[in-house]
Amino acid sequence: MKKIRKCQICSSYTLETEHCGKITVSSHPSPYKPQDKYAVYRREKRC
Ligand SMILES: [Zn+2]
Repeated sequence: MKKIRKCQICSSYTLETEHCGKITVSSHPSPYKPQDKYAVYRREKRC
């Protein structure tokens, strides 16, 4: 199973371990954390 990686030079996603002559970093698809989700909920409830 290949994981998507991201090039820190051109900010493009790739499956290659190298891009633009640099080692790419693994990108974790987790846009939000549970703690952040609760924080947003509390903020909306307060309004
Ligand atoms: Zn690149």
